[in-house]
Amino acid sequence: MEPPPAPLPARMRFGPPKKISLLDRPGGDSFISIVMDFTLARNQLMIRKSVRKFATETLEEWANTLDRESRPLPPEIVREMGRLNMWGIQAPEKYGGADLDTVSYAIVIEELSRVSAAVGLGVTVHNSVCLAPILKFGTPEQVERLVPDLASGKKLGGFTITEPQAGSDAASIRTRAVPDGDGWVLNGQKAFVTNGGTGRLFLVGATVDPGKKTGGIAVFIVEKSMPGFEVGKIEDMMGMRGNMVSELFFNNVRVPKENVLGRVEDGFRISMQTLDMGRIGIAAQALGIGMAAYEAAATYAAERTQFGKPIGSFQGVSFKLAQMRTELDAARLLIYRAASLKDQGLPYSVESAMCKLYASGVAMRVCTEALQVFGGYGYVKDLPVERFFRDAKITQIYEGTSEVMKIIIGNAIVKEFSKL
Ligand SMILES: Cc1cc2nc3c(=O)[nH]c(=O)nc-3n(C[C@H](O)[C@H](O)[C@H](O)COP(=O)(O)OP(=O)(O)OC[C@H]3O[C@@H](n4cnc5c(N)ncnc54)[C@H](O)[C@@H]3O)c2cc1C
Repeated sequence: MEPPPAPLPARMRFGPPKKISLLDRPGGDSFISIVMDFTLARNQLMIRKSVRKFATETLEEWANTLDRESRPLPPEIVREMGRLNMWGIQAPEKYGGADLDTVSYAIVIEELSRVSAAVGLGVTVHNSVCLAPILKFGTPEQVERLVPDLASGKKLGGFTITEPQAGSDAASIRTRAVPDGDGWVLNGQKAFVTNGGTGRLFLVGATVDPGKKTGGIAVFIVEKSMPGFEVGKIEDMMGMRGNMVSELFFNNVRVPKENVLGRVEDGFRISMQTLDMGRIGIAAQALGIGMAAYEAAATYAAERTQFGKPIGSFQGVSFKLAQMRTELDAARLLIYRAASLKDQGLPYSVESAMCKLYASGVAMRVCTEALQVFGGYGYVKDLPVERFFRDAKITQIYEGTSEVMKIIIGNAIVKEFSKL
């Protein structure tokens, strides 16, 4: 006969007594995982404080201008961000980076996006889908050669797989790479490239064998200075207008063989793992936008009076604030869970999709309700709430749409249960 279940150890009845990270994976290798640690370490709190200071003292005055004029940050602020290690958040210190954990990374992106989501976008793409895959999949020579300039912000970077006819179905890209002597020649067109106008180094997905679909895709490290590289139209967008998202064209661009990232045939796998990393950043960005909208709405609800009372005293308004705050906190926990799993070297692909799916939906709902709290003043450009609303929408689309996130999560669930 089985013994009765043991009582919970006393320390668990009252929650963990000190800062421990308790990882519990029910079902053995199940993708369902719980990281029970709700406190931030002292250095993570310091990181939040210092990025918030930079964002409010330096970025805030630029946020509206970047949006209205659809222009990038001035070079001196890009350089200042380099001094603050924001272009090399997770790069090793020996290459000029800050070598931070992924929870800290999410905090940096949240705080930047809280003030300027467009700046948060440039930073998260540069760090998590350009620099991080070079560190993870690059040869020691590539890391030595490329990371110092990326980590300092001397060169901004991007990642491009999307093409006019290939979005969610990334395996159907047509940009073609053909072997040529000791290198490759690239021809094709990319669409919607974040940092396209300002970046100097891009990871480019191209097919080396269209018949092989995912097995025929390679990732190339392509520099803007290479002959045949051309920046096309800078997109005129609804939101994120401070990022120079653009088309890119490759006309017989010669790429040396030393610039293939990982094995040629692994390009699709590398791209998908890169997006797993990137989605934590996009979720943190969505959280930052949502927090900005929520804080603005809560402040306004305390100040604005109607019927002789602050509007926050009406349940119709305070219930909105309660819903916003609860969903934002839930999004934050999902983001930190995915980040903690990544830091512990555990699988986190599904958790990354979950946090991106949920946080982007929260950002959209919170911005919609925050705008409602502002009434007519929320609809005009004098106040930033309408910008938050416009910026939030794209977080449900890029680095995989919400529908694609559900495909990833749904497939994992079906696979898990079919094993039972
Ligand atoms: C501002 C911005 C920045 C971007 N930055 C980058 C970047 O830096 N690098 C890069 O490579 N790309 C980038 N993108 C592209 C972005 O990742 C794609 O737009 C996105 O993946 C969706 O592709 P699509 O636009 O072609 O839409 P489609 O794939 O054509 O999808 C259209 C609709 O159909 C739905 N759909 C498609 N297939 C399915 C399915 N199987 N089941 C259910 N629904 C489905 C989608 O969810 C969506 O709602 C960016 C886009 C924008 C707008």
